[in-house]
Amino acid sequence: MKISAVEPFILHLPLTSDSISDSTHSITHWGVVGTKITTTDGLVGYGFTGTHAHLPSDRLITACIRDCYAPLLMGEDASDHQRLWTKLARHPALQWVGRAGITHLALAAVDVALWDLSAKKAGVPLWSLLGGARTEKLEAYNTDIGWLSFSTKALIAGSARAVEQDGFTRIKIKVGHDDPNIDIERLEAVRKRVGGAVRIAIDANGKWDLPTCQRFCARARDLDIYWFEEPMWYDDVASHAALARNTSIPVALGEQLYTVDAFRSFISAGAVHYVQPDVTRLGGVTEYIQVADLALANRLPVVPHAGEMSQVHVHLSYWHPASAILEYIPWIKDHFHEPANVESGIFRRPQQPGASTTPLPQAFERYGKSLG
Ligand SMILES: [Mg+2]
Repeated sequence: MKISAVEPFILHLPLTSDSISDSTHSITHWGVVGTKITTTDGLVGYGFTGTHAHLPSDRLITACIRDCYAPLLMGEDASDHQRLWTKLARHPALQWVGRAGITHLALAAVDVALWDLSAKKAGVPLWSLLGGARTEKLEAYNTDIGWLSFSTKALIAGSARAVEQDGFTRIKIKVGHDDPNIDIERLEAVRKRVGGAVRIAIDANGKWDLPTCQRFCARARDLDIYWFEEPMWYDDVASHAALARNTSIPVALGEQLYTVDAFRSFISAGAVHYVQPDVTRLGGVTEYIQVADLALANRLPVVPHAGEMSQVHVHLSYWHPASAILEYIPWIKDHFHEPANVESGIFRRPQQPGASTTPLPQAFERYGKSLG
């Protein structure tokens, strides 16, 4: 399975809903920035990272794949995952300019494509290649009903619809207003509408500081919040450790962390209760497994971020024993052969060979962007 071609691509896919916002981001499209990798035996693998469809920075990712990684991959055996990951990630000139950021997002796209190839070569879904499914039912939680840009009325209606019509028992609500009392009022209204049995997580997307979080958590004590996600700046280990010590609401984070070393810092400081790796930021499946194993060794549940809109994470969560539940955001499901699909709150287990990362041809035709 020798690599014969490495071809990066950029897709800007429109959201299924209108533009949305959390406390720190506003987007209208989801960027699928990745690479197609072809082998001499005719197999084709796809891997990608997720972006906010910002073309100038998306082109930096594809330039890294095309100019830095592709020459290192040509002629290599695509199934040598760990060796190739190390060759790319620890290349002396490349690690000098980036052990995170653009180079790591590009690395993730390449690594996922190589795993997609291995699963296709074996003729099985990725979860099966990795060692089989740990469970019959992977439960989903719905984030798409809870954006900060939604009115309180829309938030309540969406939450009720997710629970009563779509069968979700878990939802996530974005928080992070300048006045946290607004968030408390919105959460109280949702809790009153959906009842006490529904698990409600919240997510501040790194917006607040420690005093704000402590005051907020004191006021939210009676709302039975399942976890508080990214309450503060993404890299701030000390403040998250202080919050984790001082409130009864569990802390969740990890979607903005690039390396297993970063996860080790948070875990060893007692700063995280729910570990949220993102395969598209972590340097792919290869490094994701290291983080999931680290969480397992520390007896912490893994609840991945829907960074590539869940497809690869469905495979990983059906397989890895530290996995718990998984985020569901349905934005890009119309553009892939086997997108992440949820029925009655349960992720459908993928059946096709590969990592479920193969886009439909029309996605390239309609939404492909020039690499510049
Ligand atoms: Mg989040």
